[in-house]
Amino acid sequence: MNIAMIAHDKKKENIVMLAIAYQQVLKNHKIFATGTTGKLISEATGLDIIRFKSGPLGGDQQIGAMVADNDIDLVIFFRDPLTAQPHEPDVTALLRLCDVHNIPLATNLASGEIMMMALSRGDLDWRNAIKNS
Ligand code: PGA
Repeated sequence: MNIAMIAHDKKKENIVMLAIAYQQVLKNHKIFATGTTGKLISEATGLDIIRFKSGPLGGDQQIGAMVADNDIDLVIFFRDPLTAQPHEPDVTALLRLCDVHNIPLATNLASGEIMMMALSRGDLDWRNAIKNS
């Protein structure tokens, strides 16, 4: 599966914790991330991460383009709901595209953990069937 991981600054600690806790699951998948998030996850876990630009510089849109092409199977996007973001339109666009294309999306640690457990159990394998059809 292709998994996208993004976190706003105040949520980066959470996404790194999630990646550490589930690195045995994540290592079996291809991970894409925005610049800083990807750097932090890779430093903390040693996971191979394909990094895009930083979110405010277009990274969210790069991931959004992959979602639109049906190339992302799961999005973990820990957004900060209490801080205004300069790239708010990009954030909204990415969330919208996940809904347009019915892509599983976790926006906080609680749902992120549920997604990791679902991934390890094969609950998201229906994505492969869709991609291969
Ligand atoms: P970053 O981007 O991982 O480069 O910090 C995330 C974002 O703010 O959307």
